[in-house]
Amino acid sequence: MKKFLALILAVAMIASVSMLAACSGSGDSKSGSGKDAKGDSSDKEKLTMATNAYFPPYEYYEGEDIVGIDVDVAKAIAEKLGMELEIVDIEFDSIIAGVQTGKYDMGMAGMTVTEERKQSVDFSDSYATGIQSIIVKEDSAITSIDDILADGAEYKIGVQLSTTGDIYITEDLGDAAASRVTEFQTGNDAVAALASGKVDAVIIDNEPAKSYVSAASGLKILDTEYVAEDYAICFSKDNTELKDKVNGALKELIADGTVQKIIDGYIKAE
Ligand code: GLN
Repeated sequence: MKKFLALILAVAMIASVSMLAACSGSGDSKSGSGKDAKGDSSDKEKLTMATNAYFPPYEYYEGEDIVGIDVDVAKAIAEKLGMELEIVDIEFDSIIAGVQTGKYDMGMAGMTVTEERKQSVDFSDSYATGIQSIIVKEDSAITSIDDILADGAEYKIGVQLSTTGDIYITEDLGDAAASRVTEFQTGNDAVAALASGKVDAVIIDNEPAKSYVSAASGLKILDTEYVAEDYAICFSKDNTELKDKVNGALKELIADGTVQKIIDGYIKAE
């Protein structure tokens, strides 16, 4: 009986070992070189891009993939530089710190160039422009930023934490900001708070604003813009070499129309 058990165990072990061998062998069955099935992609230097993938159409999820303008521009840059792009999705609020400490090579997230951010990171040339716009309920009495900033006004404002919408309105409202501005982790949360009446307006970049408003009902974007801004890629101040390389690739991609073509593929002219 013992012998029989030992035999079964031995057969089972041989079976599992050969299954393992079959699995691990599948990748190099063609070349036998030990490289992965994708050929020599693992030889390429990695380019890690930190983003926050809740900012359509610049970065958003399509199933499990992160897609969008920034993703396509970054892929085109990586291709020109012969690098392998790796995208990491983190809180918007953590991108600059992650780039500063060298955890990520660059930050690309519809990020606006501001003087304050320039103290912490370096920016590439700008590849797109944005506008801080104001979303309100369709029947709102708010018609422009002046109504929000008027003396005695008490409107509550929702923003995405640490974005320029947050920074500008907090600055403009001064002391009143503490009671009137609510910071949400995502733009989506801010818009949900507007829809449920917790805030009276949301200040956010115009392109995500459009997609949030079209996905909800009873909301509109005011015609008047709050602030116009430039989007760029950020780098550690210690990595000017990479910034210069990326800028070189970006210049070519702007000059040959690739960047505009990518943008037009996501943003239809009105
Ligand atoms: N453009 C805004 C900023 O840089 C918002 C970017 C974002 O939410 N991804 O602050």
